Amino acid sequence: MFKKYYVKDAFLSEEGSEIELIGWVRSKRRHGRLIFLDLRDSTGVIQVAVKQGVSDSKSFENALEIGLESAVMVRGIIKKDPRAHGGVELHCNNLKVLGPSLEDFPIRKGVGLKFLLDNRHLHLRSPKVVAIMKIRSILMDIARRWLRDNGFIEINCPTFITAAVEGGATLFNVEYFGRKAYLTQSVQFYQEAAIYGLEKVYSLQPSFRAELSRTRRHLTEFWHLEVEMAYAELEDIMKIVEVLVYTMVDGLSREARDILKVLGKEIKSEMAEPPYPRVKYSEALQILNNKGVQINWGEDFGADEERILSKEFEKPFFVTNYPKEAKAFYHMLDPTDPSVCLNADLLAPKGYGEIVGGGQRIHDYHLLVERIRENGLNIEDYKWYVDLRRYGSIPHSGFGLGIERMLWWLLELPHIRSACLFPRTPARVYP
Ligand code: ATP
Ligand code: MN
Repeated sequence: MFKKYYVKDAFLSEEGSEIELIGWVRSKRRHGRLIFLDLRDSTGVIQVAVKQGVSDSKSFENALEIGLESAVMVRGIIKKDPRAHGGVELHCNNLKVLGPSLEDFPIRKGVGLKFLLDNRHLHLRSPKVVAIMKIRSILMDIARRWLRDNGFIEINCPTFITAAVEGGATLFNVEYFGRKAYLTQSVQFYQEAAIYGLEKVYSLQPSFRAELSRTRRHLTEFWHLEVEMAYAELEDIMKIVEVLVYTMVDGLSREARDILKVLGKEIKSEMAEPPYPRVKYSEALQILNNKGVQINWGEDFGADEERILSKEFEKPFFVTNYPKEAKAFYHMLDPTDPSVCLNADLLAPKGYGEIVGGGQRIHDYHLLVERIRENGLNIEDYKWYVDLRRYGSIPHSGFGLGIERMLWWLLELPHIRSACLFPRTPARVYP
């Protein structure tokens, strides 16, 4: 049952050779005794010419009746033809319908965005969506390769949790056999436990945020690349972020060059070449205030502020040293100014905003307990997390990178949901 040839092979085949392709009918045009089909498979689209008298009569009849997105098997001869897309055409001898479309394919030119999202299960066949999913796969692969080559161990953490990582407001509740549980917002705490055995770890798995803010950059479920490292301070982890982000962009610029063409895009490694500018929160606040944005010291930057701020930059840039009020309790405080954290967010330029959030964690037992209390949290909820600070605690740091955020930026997608196979947003859990 295995396919012998793919559409991409047809483009590499010699003129006159016979080839058998299996794919789906993307479009169909008739010129009298000649029918042109665009045949699509996972590797591309090729024009197939079905001519009465050349292909057997049953095949011509099949081609006449066939509905769009039917699955077919086509045997034919490779012909170079500069008029065809890609310069190659398949002259069909034989066409067999493997799986007909029972009704007219509902997705056609001009249908609206909502219709496409409601029919995402069918829209996934579009060459543009296919291209984005291939690029996504390459991007994750590049990140994994770099992390593994640099001594990081991939770990898999639980999704059901009992205490918030990033504040209670965005937790999804789960009814867990009569107990209260949540879907995790980040696997950071589990990674912090894991570094005492593995030292350098990463995870690539979904995080969940009950974000009601309907922005173009928020999903309720997203794929989170998280990294945690023992014996690392803020500066160390910023270096890792810089090299990793550059490696991902540079890798895509080379490994995805052809696929990017389907989207009419090009990625240049220079757009993410280190070093990245570093801006302190207080400086960023100044920039925003000068632009007339009303925001006070201590407030976190939202999507709007980040958009305005990041328009001032051409390359990714770090914003560091946020006020402790604006960040979660676990952030290490700056010993030279304990009103701010030793944290760094990486913002993508040109209006895109945060793609990485990270920093140094509190490793001192007493400071951590104090910060949990100051934040009005229940120490009982964080028992095991605090326990980590009782036995051989050392400075450690880490970060989280949103895979869809990165694609949103690099592919200049109008909305982050286009980076997902089946996006999850406040308004959408179907299909
Ligand atoms: P934001 O302020 O943009 O809502 P955050 O500060 O809450 O994000 P972190 O907790 O720092 O996000 O998460 C680390 C990374 O995970 C972010 O930099 C981003 O890339 C990604 N991320 C966070 N929330 C979302 C979301 N709702 N949808 C998609 N990606 C997200
Ligand atoms: Mn953040």
